[in-house]
Amino acid sequence: MPVSKKIASAMEQGSWIRRMFEEGIALKARLGADKVFDLSLGNPIMEPPAEFDLELKRLADNPPPGMHRYMPNAGYPETRTAVATGLAAETGVPFTGDDIVMTCGAGGALNVVMKTLLDPGDEVVIFAPYFVEYFFYADNHGGVCKVVEPGSGFLPDFASLKSALSERTRIVLVNSPNNPTGVLYTRQVLDRIADAVRDAEQRYGTEIFLVSDEPYRRILYDGHTYPDVFASFERSIVATSHSKDLGLAGERIGYIAVSPTYEGKAELMDGLVFCNRTLGFVNAPALMQRLVAGLQGATVDIEAYQGKRDFMWEALTGLGYEVVRPDGAFYLFPKAPIADDVKFVDTLREQGVLVVPGRGFGAEGYFRISYCVDDQTLKGSISGFKAALLAHSQ
Ligand code: PLP
Repeated sequence: MPVSKKIASAMEQGSWIRRMFEEGIALKARLGADKVFDLSLGNPIMEPPAEFDLELKRLADNPPPGMHRYMPNAGYPETRTAVATGLAAETGVPFTGDDIVMTCGAGGALNVVMKTLLDPGDEVVIFAPYFVEYFFYADNHGGVCKVVEPGSGFLPDFASLKSALSERTRIVLVNSPNNPTGVLYTRQVLDRIADAVRDAEQRYGTEIFLVSDEPYRRILYDGHTYPDVFASFERSIVATSHSKDLGLAGERIGYIAVSPTYEGKAELMDGLVFCNRTLGFVNAPALMQRLVAGLQGATVDIEAYQGKRDFMWEALTGLGYEVVRPDGAFYLFPKAPIADDVKFVDTLREQGVLVVPGRGFGAEGYFRISYCVDDQTLKGSISGFKAALLAHSQ
């Protein structure tokens, strides 16, 4: 067997989305592609803003010397400064380029952060429902995830948070707006998390980091603004990317931002840069660093995503589904009308609609819809949602 037992078992546990993808291919062959509505993948449909193409063309026509060479492992100084300036304007926190490490997406950023912070057996507290890769990322670096159960509206259950925090907690990892629910943590929620973390630090005499995985930060609806973690907790680290807000998921470009006032910052930054290098990322892609430097204020068309959210939320709640209305990202996480989410997802698949069971995100009895697809697919899926609900209401 070429694959280790550990990886074989991880692949089995973390394979819901892939399974849906493969079943989708089989279903398309059976029913015809126009009868299959694939809402299983979070692959952003929006094209990058027009400025991206203009800048790409300008660089291709006038390549600066050494455009494709190595650079400092933290990234180009001018890109780090551009990111810091944008982030400072957004948050009011005085970031400089010295607080930024350019990374291979948010996934790369999270791996670098965990590698830097975790000793074997250290714990990473995560909130259900969660992005399932967190388990594998933590394990990559000897860490262990501890799960906080959700309270109402998929906000944290604070009693569960208190019992998840221990003398081994090193990281508390938040993801807002959330994949899979689209829920945004308000300032009040972040402050309560920060209080619980400070409490645990005092109780155990430890140092805990609040890490915010925020690739959906700019995909916000209804005029919401983003409550940043730095104002709630000083020892905060952001791990993010332009996969979703600039539609660059395949280009692997993101960054880590460290609180400029954290007293151990210099040592932490050295650790992050070392891990970016030694994990084999070496540095974030050179061309993308040059491109995103000028695009810190730009985004894909957020209103178009909001239109899709409105359409799907209204259609599903109109049919009788129970769905928390998302404030951002591009997912809905409805309650399945029966307790067995896998069975309900099977029923939907029989109707040509592909979604992912909630248990893949640590929340049985729910399912995830990705609405980052074209409007025709969304419209076409509604009769399947209706028929599946009917099939389980007799
Ligand atoms: N974190 C969450 C919550 C995500 O949903 C994703 C991607 O879907 C990532 C991290 C990884 O994003 P990236 O493409 O920037 O690595």
